[in-house]
Amino acid sequence: MTSKQRILTGDRPTGKLHLGHYVGSLANRVKLQHEYESFILIADVQALTTNFDNPENLSRDTFQIAEDYLAAGLDPDTATICIQSMIPEIHELAAYFGMFTSVNVLRHNPTVKSEAQQHGFSDMTYGFLGYPVSQAADITIFKAHLVPVGEDQIPHLELARKIVRRFNDLYQPVLVEPDILIGEVPRLVGLDGKTKMSKSLNNAIYLSDSSEEIRKKVMGAVTDPARIHKSDPGHPEICTVFEYHKIFNPGEVSQIESDCRQGRIGCVDCKKRLAACLDTLVEPMRERRRQYTENPDRVREILIAGTERAHEVARQTMGEVREAMGIDYFK
Ligand code: ATP
Ligand code: MG
Repeated sequence: MTSKQRILTGDRPTGKLHLGHYVGSLANRVKLQHEYESFILIADVQALTTNFDNPENLSRDTFQIAEDYLAAGLDPDTATICIQSMIPEIHELAAYFGMFTSVNVLRHNPTVKSEAQQHGFSDMTYGFLGYPVSQAADITIFKAHLVPVGEDQIPHLELARKIVRRFNDLYQPVLVEPDILIGEVPRLVGLDGKTKMSKSLNNAIYLSDSSEEIRKKVMGAVTDPARIHKSDPGHPEICTVFEYHKIFNPGEVSQIESDCRQGRIGCVDCKKRLAACLDTLVEPMRERRRQYTENPDRVREILIAGTERAHEVARQTMGEVREAMGIDYFK
């Protein structure tokens, strides 16, 4: 038995991971993987809340996200990477949580509301409306102490904490109330400078992009529209490229800021420097990724072993949950 505290996080397998995922959550997972016992959940059931009509992509996206994790530096001998749909106890626990969670609370959850709007749902399905309950089960079945996530997850974590308190109060105190750990950049803006970087808005730099793709995307990013000539004084505070320099190029950022304000650096040069920085961040990921793309069986083995390990923990917690609720009839 390890005495380490636990981490639970995960992502929906709905596409490739991007820099927003990295700075919002993934970097923290990599950093903390040795300090905590880490469970990383590929939330394929949650992906179905919006993609139920094309389940054929789930398998591809699940493997792809696993490769992204490994490329980003999650060590499969340390962190447990597992698949949500293959741990049925999670769904059982979510059913029990659903008995005392109010529909109105879910309807008023700001992240649920904005995502429903983004997907154009005028009438939410039962599964979509209830996904924060399922997420509370993901976290608590592993008795996670800490959940490293981006800012959109705050309302879900608050709900998870409420659910734990309610459960422990109604039955017996067997569940752990999780703390949230927001990433260094709670919400990375997309290349369009408008909304958060997101898989679905065509404004993302992916962890799997080539140097050329990164360069092209950065060159196309929105800058200060008032700046036409290199010598025009720039306004870094409204420039997306400068926003990225702040995050990904801390060593040069103050020099770039004063050069831009005084018209000493042009947008093209400024973008080239950013692209080089991003490439330096992603390069070691490419190296690690290669080992796995050349050996897809290895990824499969990692997912099978991780899911088995996680399933064992889930079984144990569910045993305690059933006992706490007095529904273990044949004991
Ligand atoms: P989807 O559109 O399929 O929901 P997503 O990009 O929102 O995709 P999720 O799988 O829902 O990704 O989120 C995974 C994790 O990444 C969450 O912790 C979320 O807060 C974080 N995250 C996603 N996008 C960003 C971003 N632009 N900045 C910071 N964190 C982010
Ligand atoms: Mg999301």
